[in-house]
Amino acid sequence: KYHEQLVELKGNIRVLCRVKPVLKEDQHEEGLAVVVTTDLNNESALNVVSKGKGRTFELDKVFHPQATQEEVFQEIEPLVTSCIDGYHVCIFAYGQTGSGKTYTMEGSVENPGINQRALKHLFNEIEDRKDMWSYTVSVSSVEIYNEVLRYKDGEKLDIKMNPDGSGHLHVPGLRLYSNQSLEDKTRRNRITFGTQMNQHSSRSHALLTITVLGVDLASGSKTCGKLNLVDLAGSERVWKSGAEGERLKEAQNINRSLLALGDVIQALRGRQTYIPFRNSKLTYLLQDSLGKGNKTAMVVQVSALERNVGETLCSLKFAQRVC
Ligand code: ADP
Ligand code: MG
Repeated sequence: KYHEQLVELKGNIRVLCRVKPVLKEDQHEEGLAVVVTTDLNNESALNVVSKGKGRTFELDKVFHPQATQEEVFQEIEPLVTSCIDGYHVCIFAYGQTGSGKTYTMEGSVENPGINQRALKHLFNEIEDRKDMWSYTVSVSSVEIYNEVLRYKDGEKLDIKMNPDGSGHLHVPGLRLYSNQSLEDKTRRNRITFGTQMNQHSSRSHALLTITVLGVDLASGSKTCGKLNLVDLAGSERVWKSGAEGERLKEAQNINRSLLALGDVIQALRGRQTYIPFRNSKLTYLLQDSLGKGNKTAMVVQVSALERNVGETLCSLKFAQRVC
């Protein structure tokens, strides 16, 4: 038995892992043995058994299969709060299709995920600060499919460099939802962006961006925070299963963009001066939220089952790379 120790995370990138519970509907095929286990005495360790070999992975935090949506959000909450103070934050859900990415980000009406809870938390914090600050919250929701930025209805969008020389990007014509109706909907649990509704959803990255503009009522000084909530495309290795045509192209684009995301995070962690943002649409679009002084959390979703152990190890290796 050997030990794979992940470097303890310093700085602004946190890597979390959530193990999906074994559900009834998962129990219809072979490979049903549970090979991924968590450690009651060490909440940052994850044990994986494959080919008779046991490995322990160390991450910032591991959520056992019974962890609730609330427990997951508790870990994320400080990052959400920091948006009000003007930080740019990215929260990613990474993992193979079916591992629980959309459950973690969107959840259901009864068990809302990070997206809904983040908006609610923002509005509550803003209410608490209203004597000193005035805030405007707006939300946009887009997807990246085959390296093209678009709305769910297929309408394509451009990414442009701001002409003001700030180095910030903007997306002309982006639909923003803001103000009172957004808050009302949030409070009534009515926010659904339908990010994973269409048939190719597991092959696209779904992005929900919440922008928080603040004005200090006394001094007039301003803050601009941003929270990017990203339900990534499935990380499974489709091209190995003989995918052809459109399916192969999708797989190559997904592979390339997840690799590019890993490269960017690794470069940021290594304090390199050159950060390869331009290698994918995703990293290009998020560059003003991924750079220095910003905060990132990656929730790596894994299945506990033997039949998925290959993908589980790949996902944990990705986690290890960005750690
Ligand atoms: P992905 O988005 O990674 O493809 P999903 O979020 O759609 O995966 O999850 C696959 C299925 O498993 C869904 O039916 C989802 O509701 C369920 N599921 C995932 N995680 C959990 C969890 N922690 N508790 C209960 N059900 C879950
Ligand atoms: Mg999904």
